[in-house]
Amino acid sequence: MPRDPRYDVLFEPVKIGPVTAPNRFYQVPHCNGMGYRDPAAMTVMRGIKAEGGWGVVCTEQCEIHYSSEITPFIELRLWDERDLPALERVAKAVHAHGALAGLELAYNGMNGPNFYTREPPMGPSHLPVATFTNDPVQARAMDKQDIADLRRWHRTAALRAQRAGFDIVYVYAAHALSGLQHFLSRRYNDRGDEYGGSLENRVRIVRELTQDAKEAVGDRCAVAIRLSVDELLGPEGLHREEAHDMIGILADLPDLWDITLSDWANDSETSRFGDEGAQEPFVAGIKGLTSKPVVGVGRFTSPDAMAAQIKRGVLDLIGAARPSIADPFLPRKVEEGRIDDIRECIGCNICVSGDMTMSPIRCTQNPTKGEEWRRGWHPERIAPKASDAKVLVVGAGPAGLECARALGARGYEVALAEAATELGGRVARECRLPGLSAWGRVRDHRVQQMRTMTNVETYLGSRLTAEQVLELGFQHVAVATGAVWRRDGVARFLLRPIAVEEGAEVLTPDDLMGGKGPSGRRVVLYDDDHYYMGGVLAELLAAQGREVTLVTPASDVSNWTHNTLEQGRIQTRLLELGIAIEPHRAVTAVRAGGVETACVFTGRKAEIACDSVVLVTARLPNESLYRDLNAQRAAWKDSGILSIKTIGDALAPATIAAAVYAGHRYARELDGPEPGDGPPFKRELTELAPL
Ligand code: ADP
Ligand code: SF4
Repeated sequence: MPRDPRYDVLFEPVKIGPVTAPNRFYQVPHCNGMGYRDPAAMTVMRGIKAEGGWGVVCTEQCEIHYSSEITPFIELRLWDERDLPALERVAKAVHAHGALAGLELAYNGMNGPNFYTREPPMGPSHLPVATFTNDPVQARAMDKQDIADLRRWHRTAALRAQRAGFDIVYVYAAHALSGLQHFLSRRYNDRGDEYGGSLENRVRIVRELTQDAKEAVGDRCAVAIRLSVDELLGPEGLHREEAHDMIGILADLPDLWDITLSDWANDSETSRFGDEGAQEPFVAGIKGLTSKPVVGVGRFTSPDAMAAQIKRGVLDLIGAARPSIADPFLPRKVEEGRIDDIRECIGCNICVSGDMTMSPIRCTQNPTKGEEWRRGWHPERIAPKASDAKVLVVGAGPAGLECARALGARGYEVALAEAATELGGRVARECRLPGLSAWGRVRDHRVQQMRTMTNVETYLGSRLTAEQVLELGFQHVAVATGAVWRRDGVARFLLRPIAVEEGAEVLTPDDLMGGKGPSGRRVVLYDDDHYYMGGVLAELLAAQGREVTLVTPASDVSNWTHNTLEQGRIQTRLLELGIAIEPHRAVTAVRAGGVETACVFTGRKAEIACDSVVLVTARLPNESLYRDLNAQRAAWKDSGILSIKTIGDALAPATIAAAVYAGHRYARELDGPEPGDGPPFKRELTELAPL
């Protein structure tokens, strides 16, 4: 289909200093947990974005000097010439598809504890490092020589970036991750010299680094400033008016303004806390302060929202990190009039959790993310079927849906049987919970794709037994029957079932999602799961007017959501809803009128009176179908069955992302070689240095 003329504006070239972006789709720098450890994987991942039509593809932050590094996090390095070949490959992979390549030069300063190099970090002032983990390290205040050194290092890095082939080099002053932002900030910068005090003084270092870079490489490379325009801390923090004054001062100095919020949690807000385009109030008006192009983000997945940003004069370039992760081919799909094929980001930040846990990036919507190089998985291409075998997929949760979709794309005849009267499994239920509606996109994308396939049949209301499966005449069966929440309290703290007194009301998340609420007003929610479910259900119960106490062995609620940048917001929301939070405690017994809790350190007991208890602990796989089938293994051959495999939560309950990945993997590997004992993916090994 030809592209809709409404979106023509998105395909206009944009001049950025001495270079020209072929269109307005701009993949802003984003971390990916691969960086210098997995450079081939990172390179191929970036190249695929360019192939998918992003006019500009940037790297994650790239440390420019050994005196500032952010171990344990894994980003890029440009400490010396030896780092250049890895970066050259990135620029080349991006150029191969006609896109511009951007390199985000970073001096983290007091955001880097320097655990690897053991150098004392430097910042504008003598202050503890501002890291995620309260590291026992202080940054020392930079003197004039340090600043002169930094200018030289940054200039050298810009020259190296140019040599590596990059078209855009960044002066990074955003997210509270960059040392330059600490100079801009009244909170961190208490200097009495010309780099502190007035706004003009605080922006001096950014001005100097930008001027230096322009002088060094500005004839061939664009120089971008990435700035956070609000920390959402009120007048105490960096805020919109002040940031707009900063932009007014620097105005046309950079070739591009890349606008963000700070900290990272505010910039990469999840869909639970903000909608598409939520940053517009902070970006609006910036174009009036500069004649240079402005790029900004907003988890944009709708081309209408993107085109509106351009037409209304808010942005010149549509910045995207997560939408480009969920669908590296988003621009290409807009261009080809395939809007329905866009795999929309759900705003869950599982991608961020890759970086936060120093593991390769993953994505709930895009199971190929991070697997482009090591498994050779392309997000849009999949090998045709290798046999005429017919496949039965049992269960239409995220695992079953993705399995059936990907098998369908390979050309297999597929039947997808679902016990319930709707598709989606856990995402169908969970997307009705407060703040999680975007999660329905996991189902919607797959259902939409399968609708266009004549070789995939879906059967609702079909709870299959082993006997039925054996009779149906399929050669391969994927059992994706999901999992149920435990009712016995067993999880991390308690490894044996909790004592429950006769008459006590114990509920699970499945009960609540199935419409069975607590019978009384006072509810204790025990969260030993630590991801989103406990916090979301506490919110749901509070919205129903119940008096909720959340008990958790962790030090804070939904503890794992530190990795999705949500923890602070979740705890704030629960406290504002009046939910009582009892950290460091476990529920050790459930009685008819209350619960007994114990301190996880001292074991000291306490009682909380309540009418009902909701246990958000762990899940058990729905194994009965596979177990029954396994018991009849002898009958498989006569039934024409070649393989039966369990995938997703039915094998081992995990995230939605893991279930989608498992479904995809099954489809990729069907009719492939049996795995050997080694890893089923490529690994990049560090070159051994002489001893
Ligand atoms: P996953 O995350 O692994 O995809 P879900 O729990 O989301 O798992 O989905 C599993 C789906 O399987 C549910 O929708 C459930 O109704 C369905 N299911 C479970 N047992 C059967 C069965 N025997 N026949 C058909 N569908 C089943
Ligand atoms: Fe979007 Fe979630 Fe994928 Fe990240 S992991 S790109 S937030 S769908």
